[in-house]
Amino acid sequence: MRLPHLAGNSRLKAALAALPPSGVGSAVLLDGPGGIGKRTAAADLAAGLLCPEKDGPCGVCPSCKRASAGSHPDLIWLKESEPGKGVKLEQVRDLRAQSFLRPSEAPFKVFVIPQADRLNLPSQNALLKVLEEPASSVFVLLCENREAMLQTVRSRCKTFRLAPLEQQELLAELSRRSDAAPETIRAAAQQAGGLLGRALDILAGQEKTGHAAARNFCAALSGDELGIYLACQELTKLHREEYADFCDESCRLLTQSAFRTGDRRSVDTFEYLEKQRAMLIQNPSVTALAGALAAFCGGL
Ligand SMILES: [Zn+2]
Repeated sequence: MRLPHLAGNSRLKAALAALPPSGVGSAVLLDGPGGIGKRTAAADLAAGLLCPEKDGPCGVCPSCKRASAGSHPDLIWLKESEPGKGVKLEQVRDLRAQSFLRPSEAPFKVFVIPQADRLNLPSQNALLKVLEEPASSVFVLLCENREAMLQTVRSRCKTFRLAPLEQQELLAELSRRSDAAPETIRAAAQQAGGLLGRALDILAGQEKTGHAAARNFCAALSGDELGIYLACQELTKLHREEYADFCDESCRLLTQSAFRTGDRRSVDTFEYLEKQRAMLIQNPSVTALAGALAAFCGGL
């Protein structure tokens, strides 16, 4: 198995190269922050599983060509029914029904489920049922935050963690893919923390709302109470998906600053946000979460 389009990640690539196609099992979990390359890795992995050549994906056979064009009949990507609303319960149930159908041409079907950690509790339970069936399909789940997934779902998957790029590696990739000025590229690389997709979003002026909110919030944490309160006030405007983005990104940023400074406030806030992130599975109100966060930070 190869991941030819994924930048960096030499350890993951070596681990996969050592596995026969059947070695990944019937459920794979690709884990890592947004922008790290999970979709790219999933596309390569799925194409590789369906490619009849040894050490696929070969990239040139009809199966690989259709997989990369998005027209392979046995490769199904679950999509949000509405942008920002996440994958719905009916879609997971439908996926179960589809997994019982015979594959069209490959020996099995491959289902990719992006943002598996954003599924709410009923959907995760429905997904668990799918994973418990005797498998004639392969399921590739993507997640940013493993802790937000049911342990029973996680334990059914073979997990592969993606790694951020080294700064030099990231700069080289960005210079190859972007026409922006070198100083703009350097600034984006600095902000992106080794995440190629994130750096490309920043260069394109398309940073996610929740990620920008996380940067504001983490910057406010080192200031006074009023600044923190105002940052939390802004959070009440987010949708649930954006709040999940905010939690994931804040946890990533706080881990970095806690490592750097050993700051107690970063560690406590990280732990609190991890709890809030886990609660999102139950669809609480974002306003209530943001209010509770403001109260928590005020007491720190
Ligand atoms: Zn091929």
